[in-house]
Amino acid sequence: MFEVQTSKIHDEARQGEALKPDGMRNPAAERLFFIESYGCAMNFADSEVVASILRKERMDITDDFTKADLIFINTCSVREKAEATVRKRLSEFRKLKKNKPGLLIGVLGCMAERLKAKFLEEEKLVDIVVGPDAYRSLPTLIKEADSGQKGVDVLLSREETYGDIAPIRLNSNGVTAFVSIMRGCNNMCSFCVVPFTRGRERSRDVYSIIRECTDLFEEGYREVTLLGQNVDSYQWYDEQSGKTVSFANLLEQVALVSPLLRVRFSTSHPKDITDEVLFTMKKYENICNYIHLPVQSGSTRMLQLMNRTYTREWYMAKVDRIREILPDCGLSTDTISGFCTETEEDHQDTLSMFDYCKYDLAYMYFYSERPGTLAARRFPDDVPLEVKKRRLAEIVELHRKYSLLSMQKELGRTLKVLIEGESRKSSDQWAGRCDSNKMVVFPKAGNVAKGDYVNVWIEDCTAGTLIGKIV
Ligand code: SF4
Repeated sequence: MFEVQTSKIHDEARQGEALKPDGMRNPAAERLFFIESYGCAMNFADSEVVASILRKERMDITDDFTKADLIFINTCSVREKAEATVRKRLSEFRKLKKNKPGLLIGVLGCMAERLKAKFLEEEKLVDIVVGPDAYRSLPTLIKEADSGQKGVDVLLSREETYGDIAPIRLNSNGVTAFVSIMRGCNNMCSFCVVPFTRGRERSRDVYSIIRECTDLFEEGYREVTLLGQNVDSYQWYDEQSGKTVSFANLLEQVALVSPLLRVRFSTSHPKDITDEVLFTMKKYENICNYIHLPVQSGSTRMLQLMNRTYTREWYMAKVDRIREILPDCGLSTDTISGFCTETEEDHQDTLSMFDYCKYDLAYMYFYSERPGTLAARRFPDDVPLEVKKRRLAEIVELHRKYSLLSMQKELGRTLKVLIEGESRKSSDQWAGRCDSNKMVVFPKAGNVAKGDYVNVWIEDCTAGTLIGKIV
């Protein structure tokens, strides 16, 4: 297993998670649905939209699939392994379906969009296939499937943002929440399926975003993460003011909801992140000093084949600019090893990029060819698997050195931490993250609770966690 993740926000390979109800029962519910999500935070946020749509159809959610009348898998297609995991999971429902004939099984998300009707041919137990832009058609498709007619809706949209649907918070700690601000992606990175499975970029209206963040704050949430494949290209024309709202403007408006509401965002694209965004982050204490800036490779030749539209030097200058304006900013990235025609020299460029950037966090993968992408159509997947794995292992090893250094630099400092809940290891400890997105655990003390901000003096650390005490 060569994939390493260290924080929940960007877990592209997050394993299937049964989504627990938010504790609010739907007294009018006649049927129960179970929803399991795979992949990135966008998919988890989409599952919360799906739950809201189904709740309005006299249904309620269960986290026990044996009790469900409908089972939905929200799928990921970013790597072959992600799809294999979904197929394996579906096979586990085969027996259940045999014993419960009325049970409906639906697949949602990027794999549904990539395979479309073919999914029904390949997986006979599946009744409904719905792409990321077609969740509003679920009630109709369910009615048709109830009468035995299998259904597919994989139409991609240029307008759909689900901005008018209040998501049902699932698996929520009641403190942090994702808020999707845009959908789709206009970049055509040659290795990526997202433009084909999530369609063209469209930004959600600023008023519905502010309303959702304000509602969350009033419900007790103290942190929102603004989500998009490429948040920096957020752009929404406001007919009322006749002005175009940029990502920096949106960030400012969310920060103004309350100084007690922390704001994070993901994912940025190196070619689009502006000084305006960096200075807005500097201006508001509650906009967290943390940027996820995928580099993918340290070699300009690879970046050109990947169609990332920037060079090694451009990316390094962007990192310099971030650190010039936001000295303590946490920085994380994504990398792909063993992309088509990658040489040892290209690989060394990626290693030296890690030496230069000294990332706090990193999501490191080896190249997995995706059907239909530009790379699959044009370039040979010619780097042998063992070479891909060896290069990835070298990057992981190097990164581990820098992420430990990044943790150690916090020793002896006092950090402001938002309590997200009890530590997984002990109910005598609180856990939460500091501004630069590092996890901190510390003994419970004083009269504080989940959702409170506390100052924590850092006395020790591991590679992934800071350890301290409230001061
Ligand atoms: S920016 Fe590139 S890698 Fe990211 S979602 Fe868009 S096409 Fe995919």
